[in-house]
Formats: sequence, C-alpha cells, structure tokens
Amino acid sequence: MIFKGYSKAKYSNWLYYSPYHTLFDAGEGINTILEEKIVAVNNIILSHGHTDHYTGLINILMTKFGHYYSTGEFNDLSIYYPKNDNALIAYIQYIRDFYKLNDGQKEFNIKWVEVEAGRCYEFNTKLDTYLETFGVEHTKDVISIGYNIIERRRKLRPEFADVAPENVKKLIDEKGRDNVIYVEDKRTLTYCGDSVNAPVEKFIGTDILIHEATFLKTDDRFGQLHSTLEEAFDIAVRSKTKRLILMHISTRYKYDEIKSEVNKMIEKYATAGVIKVDYIVPGKIFEV
Ligand SMILES: [Zn+2]
Repeated sequence: MIFKGYSKAKYSNWLYYSPYHTLFDAGEGINTILEEKIVAVNNIILSHGHTDHYTGLINILMTKFGHYYSTGEFNDLSIYYPKNDNALIAYIQYIRDFYKLNDGQKEFNIKWVEVEAGRCYEFNTKLDTYLETFGVEHTKDVISIGYNIIERRRKLRPEFADVAPENVKKLIDEKGRDNVIYVEDKRTLTYCGDSVNAPVEKFIGTDILIHEATFLKTDDRFGQLHSTLEEAFDIAVRSKTKRLILMHISTRYKYDEIKSEVNKMIEKYATAGVIKVDYIVPGKIFEV
C-alpha cells in the first residue's frame, strides 16, 4: 500500500501516503480505518479549517498516545496547519491545553507548525525532504494552503555519469564533493486541498498531484469555490505531473457516473499527455 484514504466531500477527507508516513488532511473516522498504522504517521498536513478535513486529528493523537502507554514508543510527529485559520487555532489550542501538550513536554515529540503561503518548512522523512507552501483559493471564511513535498536529491555531475558507484568516493576525495555531486530539488508530491484555480506555476513538474474534483460537470457548480473534474485535468496537464489523484468528489454522484466521466476526460486529455489517474469514490476506502 502506498496510498490509503477516504474522501466524501462535506463529511470526511484524508489520504495517507506511506513512503513519507504522511497524512494529507485528517477527516473523522480515520483511526477506525488505519487503526494501528496510525502510530507510524510522522507528518500531518492540514489544508484548511473546514471540519471535514481536520476533526480526525484528536483521535489520531489518542491512538498514538495509547501506543506509547503500552509500548513506550512514540514516532515523532509534525502537524502543519495554516496560520491565522481561526477554527484550526481554536481546535489545536483545545487539544494542546487539555492534553497538556504545550512546549517542553517530554514524552511526545510533537511539532505544531503554523504555515504561511510561499514559505519552506522542515519535513520529517527518512529522505532529505522539505515542505513548500502556496496559497489556494477556497471559501472566504478560511485560509487555505497547498503543499509541495520536495526531495533534495544528490546527483553525479553529468561528466561523471558513467562512474561506477564503488568509485564515487575516490572521485570525491580527489576532486572535492561539490565538483562531483550537485543537489537537485525535485517536487515529488503536491496537495492542493479544497481549491479553485490552483496556481499551477507553483507545482510545475510535480510527480504526483492530489487535486479535488467536487463537480463532474460545470453546470452542477452554483458559485461554490470548488473545482470541476475538467479543471483538475487541465491543471494536471499544465503542471506536467505524471500522476493525478482525484478526491473530494461530491456524494451526489454514483460510482458508474464517476467512472464514466473520468474515462471521458482521460480520453479527451490523452493527446495532452495525461498521465496515470486514480479517483477516490465517495464513501469507499481507497487503496493503491
Ligand atoms: Zn473546504
């Protein structure tokens, strides 16, 4: 399993990406589905303060605390959330106060990271990664943030591309590290949360794009600040991503309709170079 998630617009949305032990949003019901797998989570990335995206957070913590009290283990946890989002600030303050999780706590290494658009933040994975944020447009009552995960990959300079791995150390000793190796920052995963008109220029070349597609058809949108299926495809193509994962699809649509509309889009955008597409059917557990 690489991805596991659940997404039912207005009710609960979350998606777990196991290679980074990272959870994108934290809608309710999450620990009934992930169960003990939750103890492995190192990063929780919250897009905005609508309840269908964050009310599962408290139960994730309860599961991780329970695991600590029975085993003594607690996997470090960073929780990222938009600064100045009033709902999230109040909710997180309640959790921190009630469970005495304020700074200086010893048992649990939890970092609470308030994020702003256009910044970079430390990110907790086994690889050398960091988090980059960008603003997205959603309803006026919330501050909504999109996220890129970026891997800092060390590569051999082109002139040494043919050097065998066992000889690289010798080469570095001879020529100096910076003359042999360079660092490439690679966007590997992008999450836009709930959004319309997501700023494509902020995530060009991302390997995997997680995007909402609340409406299958433009006529179904009555001024709501959510994307349509076609907008999600258009953004995916313009971003040159390799893989699109669609979530937050409205519950008004049944499985057959979703499948047929997604297939139409795959056909329509085939010549534009789309990409592998997955979609989370509302009310069904998603796993790939
Ligand atoms: Zn929302």
